[in-house]
Amino acid sequence: MERIVIVGAGQAGVQCAISLRDEGFAGQIVVVGEEPGWPYQRPPLSKAYLLGKMDDEGILLRAPSLYADLRIDLRAGVRAQAIERSSQRLQLSDGDALAYDHLVLATGARQRPLPAPGAELDGVASLRTLADAKALMARMGHVRRAVVAGAGFIGLEFAAVARAQGIEVTVVELAERALARALSLPMSYFFEERHRAWGSHFHFHRSVLDVRGVGAVEAVELDDGEVVPADLLVVGIGVLPNIELAEAAGLATGNGIVVDERLTSSDPAISALGDVALHPNRFSVTGPVRLEAVQNAVDQARALAASLTGKPKLYDAVPWFWSDQGDLKLQMAGLAAGHDSAVLRGDPASGAFSVFCFKGERLLACESVNRPADHMAARRMLQAGLPITPEQAADEQVSLKTFLTARA
Ligand SMILES: Cc1cc2nc3c(=O)[nH]c(=O)nc-3n(C[C@H](O)[C@H](O)[C@H](O)COP(=O)(O)OP(=O)(O)OC[C@H]3O[C@@H](n4cnc5c(N)ncnc54)[C@H](O)[C@@H]3O)c2cc1C
Repeated sequence: MERIVIVGAGQAGVQCAISLRDEGFAGQIVVVGEEPGWPYQRPPLSKAYLLGKMDDEGILLRAPSLYADLRIDLRAGVRAQAIERSSQRLQLSDGDALAYDHLVLATGARQRPLPAPGAELDGVASLRTLADAKALMARMGHVRRAVVAGAGFIGLEFAAVARAQGIEVTVVELAERALARALSLPMSYFFEERHRAWGSHFHFHRSVLDVRGVGAVEAVELDDGEVVPADLLVVGIGVLPNIELAEAAGLATGNGIVVDERLTSSDPAISALGDVALHPNRFSVTGPVRLEAVQNAVDQARALAASLTGKPKLYDAVPWFWSDQGDLKLQMAGLAAGHDSAVLRGDPASGAFSVFCFKGERLLACESVNRPADHMAARRMLQAGLPITPEQAADEQVSLKTFLTARA
C-alpha cells in the first residue's frame, strides 16, 4: 500500500495518521481537513478553553512540528468533495485530485441546527468548532441572560461555565430530564439538582418555538407560550454525522457510515471511524452504535492503523467518556443504553458516588462522579467480562479492587 488518504483532521483522523507511523507504515499519508489551522481538541471548547484557562497553543491536538516530523501531509482548509470509487480518487475543493490505495473517512459530526424561526439571528450560537468557541467567548462578556437549548453534555457544560461567570441561565429540554440519552435516572437527577443549586433554571418537556429579536436575539419563545428574555441562545441539541460524502459515493449509511468490526465500510478500500462510524460494538445491547467520544476516536484509530499495516485487529475497547461540570467530574464506562436496573454505590449527598447499570445480572455500565477508582475498576471489569452482581456493586464493604484481584 503506497498512499493512505484520511478525510477529517479531527481526533480520529489525526490519531489514525500518527498510529499508522507508530505501526511502521512507510508510505504517503495525506490528511485532508476542512477546518483551517492546526488540528485541535474539542472537549476543552466547553470547559477549560471557554473558561479562559487554556490558550490557543494548549488546545492543539499535537505540536505543529509533529506533522512534518512524521511526514504527514496535512491539507488544512481543504474539503473533500467527492469520492470516485472506481478509480480510487478523491476530489478536493482546491481542484486537486488524490489517488488513494486506502481511504479513511473521519468526517465527524456537525451541530444539529435549531429548527425554529429566528435561528439565524445574531446571538444564536453553537459549540462544535474552535471558531464557534471564539465567537461565543467574544460575546459572553456582554451577556446577562442566556437560554440553552438542550440539556445534553454540551448544553450543561456551557451552563456551568456561564453560571460561573454570573450569567443567568435557562435550560430548555424536550425530554423529561437532563442528559436523558446518556445517563441513568439517579445520575441525571443528581446533575439537574446540582445545576439548579448553581442557579440554572430548567424547562423540561419544552422546545424552542421562536427566537425573537431585531437583528439579534432578544427573547426565546417556548412551545407552551412562555417567553424567556435572553441576549444569547446556545444550541446544544445534538449532532448530525457527516455522511454526505460517503452517501454520494454509494457507501452504506444510516445514522453514520456503516462499518464492520474492522471498521471497513461497504467498500473494502474505504474505512470509517470516530463520531461518523456506525459500528458493531460488543458492549452494546441495543445494536450498532455511533459513539461521540475521544476514547472511541482514539481506540478506533489505533485498531484501524494496526489492521491497515497487516496486523488485523478488531475494535474491542470498552467505551468510556468524561464530562466536567463545575466541580463535578463525571466518568462513564460501558454503554448504559438498554439497562433495566441501576444501583448506587456511595451517597449522592456526599458529591462522590457511582451508579452501576445492569441488564439482568450483566453489568452494562458504570457512571461515577468524583470517584475515579470506581470508574477504573468498572472499565477493567467490563473489558474482562468479570461478573459482579448488583448487590456486590452496591455494597461498599465489597472492595472493587479486591474483587478484581480475586478474579484476575
Ligand atoms: C464542545 C465539545 C465538548 C466535548 N467534550 C467531550 C468530552 O468531555 N469527552 C469526550 O470523550 N468527548 C467529548 N466531545 C466529543 C469529542 O470531541 C468527539 O467525539 C471527537 O472530537 C470526535 O472526533 P472525530 O475526529 O471523529 O470528529 P470531529 O472532531 O468532528 O472531526 C471531523 C473533522 O472532519 C472535518 N470534515 C468533515 N467533512 C469533511 C470533508 N468532506 N472534507 C474535509 N474535512 C471534513 C470536520 O470539519 C472536522 O474538523 C466533545 C465535543 C464537543 C464539540
